[in-house]
Amino acid sequence: MNTAAIQLRSVTRKFGTGQAEGAAVTALDSVTLAFPRGTFTAVMGPSGSGKSTLLQCAAGLDRPTSGSVTIGGTELTGLSERRLTLLRRDRVGFVFQAFNLLPSLTAEQNVALPLRLAGRRPARSEVRKALTQVGLTDRARHRPSELSGGQQQRVALARALITRPEVLFADEPTGALDSRTSREVLRLLRAMVDDDSRTVVMVTHDPVAAAYADRVVFLVDGRVHDELAAPSAEATAARITTLEAAQATRPEAAPC
Ligand code: ADP
Ligand code: MG
Repeated sequence: MNTAAIQLRSVTRKFGTGQAEGAAVTALDSVTLAFPRGTFTAVMGPSGSGKSTLLQCAAGLDRPTSGSVTIGGTELTGLSERRLTLLRRDRVGFVFQAFNLLPSLTAEQNVALPLRLAGRRPARSEVRKALTQVGLTDRARHRPSELSGGQQQRVALARALITRPEVLFADEPTGALDSRTSREVLRLLRAMVDDDSRTVVMVTHDPVAAAYADRVVFLVDGRVHDELAAPSAEATAARITTLEAAQATRPEAAPC
């Protein structure tokens, strides 16, 4: 059977429970979603709709209040912190809008870091190969401050890829990039799916970025509001407009 790379079942994540009545926020509200192996999913929705919380829970970086998450068939609920850390290390990659590179390390040292943290001594060829994959062979000795935003994000991608993860989560990976460098990063994400059968889940606000995905999932108020298959930028933008119009009728609506 073709099990999903990631499966969420009735995942609810509340923040601030146990405090004063009314202080609790339901960031995710009974979300059930499957991310099939070898697919690219974009997650969209207004600010505060739970996109980052969804990624953090799906990646095992955060624990749901209730519900279950499986990665490659392994149920995360009930795993010890140590087991969870190992599973994340072996199977999951994560990239962020802010790159999160260590400023004092060179590109190749940043890329080698996950292997070092796993207690391995990475071969230089292995690190160079990851940098070549993202087109940065000639920048191996540069520090982040000597690289453009697009180059820094590609280093972050190489760092996420060095452990050969089954699943890559990207939280607004092109949010800080111009449209040309965004395209480079999006093409790389697409290639990870098409060439290496990895599973990519990406949060974005950009309909053009979403068009690189196989599917868009729209979140509103912590719930899956809608999905769009084979999304074009135009269809995605139109769907967001509809969604915002529906939101605007509610007095407490958050802006996109
Ligand atoms: P998005 O990424 O779509 O902007 P988030 O997942 O970051 O949304 O947040 C969803 C909701 O959960 C928001 O109301 C946010 O304020 C709240 N939230 C997220 N993380 C925390 C936290 N660590 N503590 C308290 N509230 C949080
Ligand atoms: Mg977010």
